[in-house]
Amino acid sequence: MPIAALRLEEIARALDDARRKGSPIARPITVADADLDDAYAIQRVLMRSAHEHGGGLRGFKIGTTSAAAMARVGVAEPLYGFIERADAIVDGGVIDLRALIAPRIEMEVAFVTAADLEGDDCDAEAVLAATAYVVPALEIIDSRYTPGPFDVVAAVADNMSTARHVLGTARLDPRAVALPTITATLCKNGVEIARGAGSAVLGDPARSVAWLVRALARDEVHVPAGSVVLSGGFADALPAAPDDTFVARFTPGGAVTCTFSTHGPHA
Ligand code: MG
Repeated sequence: MPIAALRLEEIARALDDARRKGSPIARPITVADADLDDAYAIQRVLMRSAHEHGGGLRGFKIGTTSAAAMARVGVAEPLYGFIERADAIVDGGVIDLRALIAPRIEMEVAFVTAADLEGDDCDAEAVLAATAYVVPALEIIDSRYTPGPFDVVAAVADNMSTARHVLGTARLDPRAVALPTITATLCKNGVEIARGAGSAVLGDPARSVAWLVRALARDEVHVPAGSVVLSGGFADALPAAPDDTFVARFTPGGAVTCTFSTHGPHA
């Protein structure tokens, strides 16, 4: 039986509150008592609130895009969330850890769209045609839950752990660069801790964005022109701690950087 609308609103409010305060809560719904439709309905409430009371929507993010991640989570397709303008950090910027709970970081490429993307038949070719350019990016994810085993319904309700994102400055033409062949390394404080390639993202990051468009079409939502879409991690997300500086180097695409601090951006 679907969860009552009032209960969905209540859960969304609790998650919104936890996110704003950087203070974790117990999982209000799990696979034991809800399904992904309920979880996405909660996400819609959060999205509406971000649109009406926040700085506005910037686009979407796709998660669980590698075969290994899907197997680990027990899903047959990726999962998505939305991203807000207020979550953007400039390249080289400082991320205030006081506002976060247990952040992790991953390397991705982000698509910046030049035309609306919609429809349940969207494919990678349509995504490339609608893309202005692709940029190297770092995504910072952060669960709003107290420590515990990963729960797919709880994670989707929590906007797929979306927290911050950093876009690089290099603009790649996805019609000139084969996205699966882009490689990247992630260094923490000068030491390499991860490496990956675009092929880890559903075989091709453009395929990941096409999946998102088809998934949104089920709920009559589309990706408007001018959106930023984080297409999925090149490798697993790794934890960030105070004073950590991360540099991801993309070939091609160059570097994108951020530092975590407990002193805020003006330290
Ligand atoms: Mg991600």
